[in-house]
Amino acid sequence: MTVQHTLGAAAELRHLLGDRIVLPGDAAYEDARLPWNRAIDQRPFAVARPESAEDVVAIVRAAAATGLRVAPQSTGHGAGALADSDLSRTILVSLAGLRGVTVDPATRTARVLGGSQWNDVLAQAAPHGLTAMHGSAGDVGVVGYSLSGGLSFFARAHGLAVNAVRAVQIVTAEGRLVRASAEENTELFWAVRGGSGAFGIVVSIEVDLLPYADLFAGMLLWDVSRAPAVAHAWAAWTRTAPESVSTSLRIMHFPPLPELPPFLSGRSVVVIDGVVLAPDDAAAEIIEPLRVLAPGLDTFARIPSAGLVHMHMDPPEPTPAASTGAMLASFDGEAVDAWLAAATSTPGLSFAEVRHVGGAAARRPDGAGAVGSLAGDYLLAGIGMVPVPDLAPIAQAAVHALVHSMDAWRAPALALTFIDGDVDRELGFGGAAARLRELKAVYDPAGMFAAGHPVD
Ligand SMILES: Cc1cc2nc3c(=O)[nH]c(=O)nc-3n(C[C@H](O)[C@H](O)[C@H](O)COP(=O)(O)OP(=O)(O)OC[C@H]3O[C@@H](n4cnc5c(N)ncnc54)[C@H](O)[C@@H]3O)c2cc1C
Repeated sequence: MTVQHTLGAAAELRHLLGDRIVLPGDAAYEDARLPWNRAIDQRPFAVARPESAEDVVAIVRAAAATGLRVAPQSTGHGAGALADSDLSRTILVSLAGLRGVTVDPATRTARVLGGSQWNDVLAQAAPHGLTAMHGSAGDVGVVGYSLSGGLSFFARAHGLAVNAVRAVQIVTAEGRLVRASAEENTELFWAVRGGSGAFGIVVSIEVDLLPYADLFAGMLLWDVSRAPAVAHAWAAWTRTAPESVSTSLRIMHFPPLPELPPFLSGRSVVVIDGVVLAPDDAAAEIIEPLRVLAPGLDTFARIPSAGLVHMHMDPPEPTPAASTGAMLASFDGEAVDAWLAAATSTPGLSFAEVRHVGGAAARRPDGAGAVGSLAGDYLLAGIGMVPVPDLAPIAQAAVHALVHSMDAWRAPALALTFIDGDVDRELGFGGAAARLRELKAVYDPAGMFAAGHPVD
């Protein structure tokens, strides 16, 4: 694109969209381009900030008129996945201004505007004694998380969050606002449940809610010196844990920071946390084999469901980090030893996690979309904090080293929500990859949509 073309497209966008578009050089640009993951230095051609479905239609049409692409982004938690895309001719469509949730307690569903976060859903669902299939952090976007699979602490009991999606209102590459569900635009509905932002900009989504006003959940924490005993015990325990139980094992290395509580600041710890969907007595009996390891901290108790988003201690503010993940077919004694070695000795690795999956998450329900289940009983995830940009290569190398150290136990699958760029996504789309590509050619033949997980 020549300078004249660039100037022409920018002026045309300004003419078509007025102050709904932010261009480099505008005072607001530096702020508007920032994703939640502050390690990602995304510099799009422009940032559009719609406040209505009509605005989104206008933005997609303006992009088509000016020969630009569009990339939907709700929060930027998944900005690492988009980082491989060339954004120099792409309008980043920040949906942060399109938030709102309506709950229908009778049908146990929520209608959620496209840029909403899980905290928005929980605030409306909790008064009705309902909760949602959110992940570990409340400020993750509902659309980005759900349409790429969505792995919650309800996953072993209730499956992937993507299967709770009932319908989407989506702006297509033609600039049309359509509804896709099991009854309307059924192929698009199949594709978007996995294909996500590669098929359009979702301006609202309807999801099923869960009937839990409260639940038995919490964490157990030990000093990292106990990691071998804890990790082997957890791995053995997961082999017979019922599907009502979804838990995670982590080794976490915290720098000494005044904003951290003393039990974390400057420490390395091993943590098990999760949810047991059972009455208190039965739940306590289920986790007893972990409690006998005498954790230094034990918060397992019945809590209001809306409190679950605080259990995993995810950062409450935008944070710079590198991350990646893999699915494991098993987590046997040798695998535990390999994981312990990598988790405790890889420079630049902040957190090493293994989540127990399987159960309902591994079963594809009738009527599911492109992604409907996750093969592999355990999810492996690594996170490296990037407090200064120079440390990004070390953090990247660390998370990939963790995954490579577990190659011998990998399952042929990927949880899309846990992978950033630089990974072959074919495994994440599984058997749906070829059909997704065919439908991409039908719904977005010019490749208008740049997505965190491209379909190409
Ligand atoms: C702290 C943290 C905790 C997490 N915990 C979990 C967890 O427990 N379980 C889990 O499964 N994942 C988890 N994730 C991963 C998270 O689900 C993904 O990063 C997900 O993509 C985030 O969605 P988002 O909309 O917030 O992010 P964004 O970066 O805004 O979006 C990611 C992608 O989703 C698509 N998208 C977003 N909004 C729209 C829209 N309105 N229309 C069309 N496409 C859209 C786009 O393709 C975009 O590139 C976590 C991530 C972080 C950083």
